Amino acid sequence: MEKTTANIGKVILAGAGPGDPELITLKAARYLQIADVILTDRLVSDDILKQWANPNAEIIYVGKQCRRGNSTPQETINQLIIEYATEGKLVVRLKGGDASVFSNILDELETAQQNNIPFEIIPGVTAALGAAAYAGIPLTARGYTTAVRFLTYYKSDILTDEYWKELANTSDTLVFYMSSETLDQVIEKLTQFDISSDCQVAVVEQATTPLQNIYTSNIYNFSHNYKGQKFVSPSLVIIGKVVALNEQFNWINNSNSKEHYFNPVAPLNNKIDLTNNNKKNVNRA
Ligand code: SAH
Repeated sequence: MEKTTANIGKVILAGAGPGDPELITLKAARYLQIADVILTDRLVSDDILKQWANPNAEIIYVGKQCRRGNSTPQETINQLIIEYATEGKLVVRLKGGDASVFSNILDELETAQQNNIPFEIIPGVTAALGAAAYAGIPLTARGYTTAVRFLTYYKSDILTDEYWKELANTSDTLVFYMSSETLDQVIEKLTQFDISSDCQVAVVEQATTPLQNIYTSNIYNFSHNYKGQKFVSPSLVIIGKVVALNEQFNWINNSNSKEHYFNPVAPLNNKIDLTNNNKKNVNRA
């Protein structure tokens, strides 16, 4: 008789939305309810897991924090996907915001494909869209701009002056992920290339959570007005004429609290506070 292949599981690469637990999709929630294993990011609300995770699912916290230290190495995440899926389990890899935007989804897709593990991708509300909505900043408001760009500028990134010049001269709204720490440099470059003085900058901290906080200013005054300000992670930067609309359409009361809605990256072996017993914290090298 022909040998049958082992019962292979599946991996679902899903976005959890930017913070507000109600911003998860019905489809991602449905998969969480039937998951055997959930590999979750730091930027995913605990409330989502409490409300939707299958009570028998094994929840593994893969503490990634963008490109900073204390992250679970991608290789470990890939191994967990392989281990569990080849045992026939349904693995949900839950990521903050959208599953693909500024995430390591490519590594995980390649891992799945190379190991013949079936996969699905479920989109999520990316931070740019969550922050824009909850800050009352329509990213492509008619009469202001016709386009929006999602960018990042990390300390080690080297961008040419041509690139900065083009960014300074476009009327597109610019949204920078993972860039609140390098914001002074971003502003310096854009002003050096004479970005329009109508442009404003908004930094939206912990967008779509009860601790959302917004800092806005004209781009030429921003660094002076918020000198020395350390923005609470995660923070998103929006630059463009549309930022001015925040004053008129900001519908959420700003919180002055400096607390963290998202747990700062846990030191090695720290547990996340979930009532579910089947949890693990994977932060090993
Ligand atoms: N896949 C995610 C992005 C991961 S990169 C998404 O689609 O949103 C992590 C960066 O996203 C953070 O550094 C920050 O710039 C941004 N971010 C994620 N959640 C955020 C939130 N609630 N508020 C502000 N910025 C957020």
